[in-house]
Amino acid sequence: MKIGFIGLGNMGGPMARNLVAAGHDVSAFDVVAPIPDGMTAKTSAAAAAKGAEIVITMLPNGAILRGVANDIIPAMSSGSVLLDCSTVDVESARAVADQAAATDVGALDAPVSGGIGGAEAGTLTFMVGGTDDAFARAKPLFDIMGQKAVLCGPSGNGQAAKICNNMILGATMIATCEAFALADKLGLDRQAMFDVVSTSSGYSWTMNAYCPAPGIGPTSPADNGYQPGFAAELMLKDLRLSQQAAEAVDADTPMGARAKELYETFVEGEGGLGKDFSAMLPRFEKRGRS
Ligand code: NAD
Repeated sequence: MKIGFIGLGNMGGPMARNLVAAGHDVSAFDVVAPIPDGMTAKTSAAAAAKGAEIVITMLPNGAILRGVANDIIPAMSSGSVLLDCSTVDVESARAVADQAAATDVGALDAPVSGGIGGAEAGTLTFMVGGTDDAFARAKPLFDIMGQKAVLCGPSGNGQAAKICNNMILGATMIATCEAFALADKLGLDRQAMFDVVSTSSGYSWTMNAYCPAPGIGPTSPADNGYQPGFAAELMLKDLRLSQQAAEAVDADTPMGARAKELYETFVEGEGGLGKDFSAMLPRFEKRGRS
């Protein structure tokens, strides 16, 4: 397949490399990142998009996506598909899809989970919004770059699924970390805490699969000095997007709002930048109630 790829950073670079390794013809553009071997480097986003059956974008945010979409949609052929894998606000995803539809270009919003490791290994999960037809066309590429792709409904629903999932994840991580800090102060051994909670009604992915306490449970970033993993600032980005969406549709999300505030304080004022999002545990450990 002839593919345009725009945004070859930490995630986009390895995703594009996997497409080349599977035999696809990739034309690529990035404003900064070097273009990996095996693909054709282009001098603009429009040039990378021209003549492609599918154009993939993997960009930092919604404003940049909208700018790139303005450049590439006029260059894209009728019947081609714009596949955005970035994490962006729901509104931008829907605006770009409407713009694409106006010129008979299909659009999918398909944010991912799985991080840089998943991008390199081709084991990402894609949460997808868009039409059945566009999804079917992109499916062979999802199969190369990932292990699972779920069509969640019309445009924007992929982003909606991602931010709802990550709002649960952020709030659950905080709840798990504060419970460990309380257990410490009550004299409860961390291993005993894990053994009980991981098999009781307080269990969660953050406790059972990604335990924030070092030396407890399966290996996680806590066992590696809280090197990410999933960085606290990326969790903050997703929590901000979920609050932006909640405001737009008047949804009451008090736990998500508090999780956003706590990650904001952690990242911007308490040295959380560059640490895994589970480093909330050492943060709580050091604190009292005030
Ligand atoms: P990144 O900053 O490493 O990559 C983004 C790339 O886009 C950069 O190389 C940048 O130069 C390029 N870019 C910016 N503006 C551009 C433009 N106008 N035209 C062309 N290229 C442009 O970020 P990343 O970690 O690869 O993340 C990409 C997206 O994936 C983000 O939306 C992020 O939230 C999401 N995401 C990241 C992770 C992760 O673990 N890194 C996990 C899940 C989702």
